[in-house]
Amino acid sequence: MSKSILQNKKECYITGTTYNLHKHHVFEGTANRKLSEQDGLWLWLRGDWHNLSDYGVHFNKELDLKLKRMAQRRWQEYYNKTKEDFIKRYGKSYI
Ligand SMILES: [Zn+2]
Repeated sequence: MSKSILQNKKECYITGTTYNLHKHHVFEGTANRKLSEQDGLWLWLRGDWHNLSDYGVHFNKELDLKLKRMAQRRWQEYYNKTKEDFIKRYGKSYI
């Protein structure tokens, strides 16, 4: 498992709990999921905030976009890259 660049601890990114955690790749789809794994663009979410409720990130467009924006900013900063670099790698910009 790659190291996440979005969080240091194994805890829910939203609630901080360490119980019932799911690993979420911020950018989904076959290609982007693999890149998310490689680049550390994944985080831990409690099951309900992942896909076990209608407010979970997989069904909650607002939360999904918030996490994608945060992750793209962090990726650009961490790897010292531009928005254009991000688009080249992930297909589009979210910011
Ligand atoms: Zn997920």
